[in-house]
Amino acid sequence: MITDVDAVVIGMGPGGEDVAGSLAQAGLSVVGIEAELVGGECPYWGCVPSKMMIRAANLLTEARRVTGMAGSAVVSPDFGPAARRIRDEATDDWNDQVAVDRFVGKGGTFVRGRARLTGPDSVSVGDQEFRARRAVVVAAGTKPAIPPIEGLADTPYWTNREAIAAKVPPASMIVLGGGAIGCELAQVFARFGTQVTIVEAATRLLPLEVQEAGDLIERVFLQEGISVLVGTSARSVRHDEDGFHVTAGEGVLSAEHLLVVTGRRANLSGIGLELAGLDADSRFIEVDAQLCAVPGVWAVGDVTGAGAFTHVAAYQARIATAAILGTPLPDADYHALPRVTFTDPEVGSVGLSPESAAEAGMRVRVGSTQVPHTARGWLHKTGNEGFIQVVEDADAGVLVGATSVGPTGGEVLGLLTLAVHARVPVSELRAMIYAYPTFHRGVEDALRDLRNA
Ligand SMILES: Cc1cc2nc3c(=O)[nH]c(=O)nc-3n(C[C@H](O)[C@H](O)[C@H](O)COP(=O)(O)OP(=O)(O)OC[C@H]3O[C@@H](n4cnc5c(N)ncnc54)[C@H](O)[C@@H]3O)c2cc1C
Repeated sequence: MITDVDAVVIGMGPGGEDVAGSLAQAGLSVVGIEAELVGGECPYWGCVPSKMMIRAANLLTEARRVTGMAGSAVVSPDFGPAARRIRDEATDDWNDQVAVDRFVGKGGTFVRGRARLTGPDSVSVGDQEFRARRAVVVAAGTKPAIPPIEGLADTPYWTNREAIAAKVPPASMIVLGGGAIGCELAQVFARFGTQVTIVEAATRLLPLEVQEAGDLIERVFLQEGISVLVGTSARSVRHDEDGFHVTAGEGVLSAEHLLVVTGRRANLSGIGLELAGLDADSRFIEVDAQLCAVPGVWAVGDVTGAGAFTHVAAYQARIATAAILGTPLPDADYHALPRVTFTDPEVGSVGLSPESAAEAGMRVRVGSTQVPHTARGWLHKTGNEGFIQVVEDADAGVLVGATSVGPTGGEVLGLLTLAVHARVPVSELRAMIYAYPTFHRGVEDALRDLRNA
């Protein structure tokens, strides 16, 4: 039997839960389908618990910084409170009843199971089939992309999920992948006492960020005792009673645990894209600026490939919901998409790098300042590493990109994101008054430094 409804949402992560809840609140009959936990990766294995771990790890480091600045402090790391907080406050021990109730409370119908498109307007889950009068929304998210390294598949390696659920930090850990997730988790565990080695195939950590950011994070990590092997690929993995043995570079690395964080891929295999008129072989679902893939089918979140961030999923959800309700918002526009890696120092960036701006044909000017050279950075002293870099389209006289690394790099990014988003003229940014002595005052110094790239 087929049940007719207004909308069916596949995947109830940050993107799907938002669309499904909003459509239900608007009075549509909505079926939300989730194979695992309503809320998706972010609250259970991603942003939220990882940032709880980071908060705890950063407290340890701040306490260690007391020596030489404010007396002395004895620090005895205990992972227990962080692990408990993840269970009690973030994940309800990986139980999503609160989130299910929230959706049902908005008037939605919840179905647990793995959904599959059976046509452009129909979805099956278990033995149920739904037909959507207005919209099918695919919000299936991503899962870890595991590289085809010899022997790896046969070992009990960790992904972000096992790392987040850990109750005790391992004595030693190899982290395959020096991107945002790898760097964040590497620093957390190292600060709790784990001997960490990062293996990254690219020539720097955080390869999506500007060279200076990756280099700085590598320097900080080395100072903290984290081993960093960049330009190094793992060739084979073996596991025995002594732990993991990874052949990489010139030798073999051994550790108690192996964390694989080498990227993520969209949960699209076997979901029936071809039956809805979509390309089944594509890595992501191609959507238009209103998040519509083909008439009647929308996609939001990680599956669109626009940026694997919760704020992208939420932004797209808002636009897709309005489009489905027939009250469209302005087109999706990613020219000022911000992202933050929550290492210490934080690495925030928005828009274009100097290289990508030049490749786009712009006459580029770049300005930068070192955080330790600013008044606030100098005052802050220990733990003040960082820089602010701004990228100007010199002909237009506006910033098209920026990077902000520092103790509050992600917060300073707010000002820069506004500048790039609203295309605030550089002359206006220069005319502003910046409170003394804030970290964001470094933006003024970086603007003063603007010169031809
Ligand atoms: C360790 C880590 C840290 C992160 N930190 C940050 C951060 O600080 N800031 C940030 O912005 N982002 C962060 N992210 C990324 C963020 O978690 C994702 O971008 C976000 O969760 C994407 O939301 P989504 O709705 O697209 O997909 P997901 O959260 O992946 O949710 C998709 C849901 O769909 C379900 N599903 C898949 N296929 C089906 C199917 N066929 N039928 C039914 N259900 C299905 C899945 O079970 C899942 O629950 C982090 C990610 C990780 C892994």
